[in-house]
Amino acid sequence: MNIILLGAPGAGKGTQATRIQENYKVKHISTGDIFRYNIKQQTEIGVLAQSYIQKGQLVPDEVTCKIVEIALNEINNENFMLDGFPRNINQAQVLDKLVKIDKVIDISVDLGALTERICGRRSCTACGNLTHVSRLGGKNTCEKCGGELIQRSDDKEETVKSRLAVYSEQTAPLIEYYKAQGKLVSVNGMGTPDEVFEEVKKVLG
Ligand code: AMP
Repeated sequence: MNIILLGAPGAGKGTQATRIQENYKVKHISTGDIFRYNIKQQTEIGVLAQSYIQKGQLVPDEVTCKIVEIALNEINNENFMLDGFPRNINQAQVLDKLVKIDKVIDISVDLGALTERICGRRSCTACGNLTHVSRLGGKNTCEKCGGELIQRSDDKEETVKSRLAVYSEQTAPLIEYYKAQGKLVSVNGMGTPDEVFEEVKKVLG
């Protein structure tokens, strides 16, 4: 089954993607992760992507669609889960021409709760585990491996505002787009990661 994970920044796509990948045979393709890897390596794509990501804007479609096409070619017809792509109608139309999508899981959350969720988000520099400051009791080490935790530079408040605006204007219309295709399933993203994953399992069957 080929899946798309849809949802606003901070809805928990990355957290659910990790659980889905551990429990179902799907390759995880995250455009955000690909951009962050390229930024770390300071590749040409990374330098370009950084200038958009740090302002909370979308990286241009030509670049984003190309990296997705390459990632899809690399997985050799295996089932996949797209996380963070598509993010606008044009990207969805490009994707429709490339592959068949079976299900689109929309993780729906109260947009008002998101700024606090995103600004408190921390990721482990060693294992990539995602957590939230409210769970750390003042510590700055990963609960899973003890590694150092950092805040993503685009998780700062000013950038988060424009990421949420971009979501409402450009990404949210995809809910109707995939509803019209009969592929959309919604899960309530307001619970704990385990509770949300229980819902995800129900819709994935
Ligand atoms: P994410 O980790 O999915 O929140 O992505 C981090 C940032 O990478 C986003 O705020 C965008 O600037 C950029 N990005 C990720 N996926 C896309 C996409 N499909 N189209 C354009 N920009 C993207």
